[in-house]
Amino acid sequence: DMKKLAAGNWKMNGTRAALAEVDGLGSDRVEVLICPPATLIAPLADRGSRVLVGGQDCDARAEGAHTGDIAAAQLLDAGASHVILGHSERRADHGETDAQVAAKAVAAHQAGLVTIICVGETEAQRDAGETLAVIAAQLAGSVPDCATATNTVVAYEPVWAIGTGRTADASQIAEVHGAMRQTLAARFADADGMRLLYGGSVKAGNAAEIFAIPNVDGALVGGASLKAADFSPIIAAL
Ligand code: 13P
Repeated sequence: DMKKLAAGNWKMNGTRAALAEVDGLGSDRVEVLICPPATLIAPLADRGSRVLVGGQDCDARAEGAHTGDIAAAQLLDAGASHVILGHSERRADHGETDAQVAAKAVAAHQAGLVTIICVGETEAQRDAGETLAVIAAQLAGSVPDCATATNTVVAYEPVWAIGTGRTADASQIAEVHGAMRQTLAARFADADGMRLLYGGSVKAGNAAEIFAIPNVDGALVGGASLKAADFSPIIAAL
């Protein structure tokens, strides 16, 4: 049986003072992952807490003259086991394409990292009835052929639900997660074991309802992962 995953994405928040929030979060029952800003990956990993540590992006190239970029092997060396790729904020802020996300995922897998590949429709796409087509295209383009249930997690994060306090409702999440499972099963023999996370305004008050939805194997949590008091009850609800 697959372990569920509670992943926290700190985005561009936090300094070393924030690391104490992580100390009590470990669990035997579920996997707990914190993806802090790159500056905090090594300090968090070196802290010896029981949580897993991840990056929020990596470069597709192995090394070289690429100022400001971070290679997958460098994340691993800093103590990361996971990396988030293709988050909608990176797609929007940095123009990342599906092909670039897939190339980054290949590099991350080669380095030995587990990838959390993010997909999600905008509000305009949902209103236009394009949600399932958008998600299918993002999966086709962003998830590389080398993906397995061991090295890949997929996160469904509707763009309109991120940081807005508006979660997708249970039927919307069930529809997309079911469709993602089917789409992945057409390509990957072990798709049943791939963890599918929901992300977008997950908080203590809605976590249990979201985790009860079929094909939801965990959460990718932004704002509510920054404080132990907010993230702990979400982990407990898994
Ligand atoms: P919020 O939980 O703050 O809505 O962010 C979700 C997210 O983007 C996690 O990657």
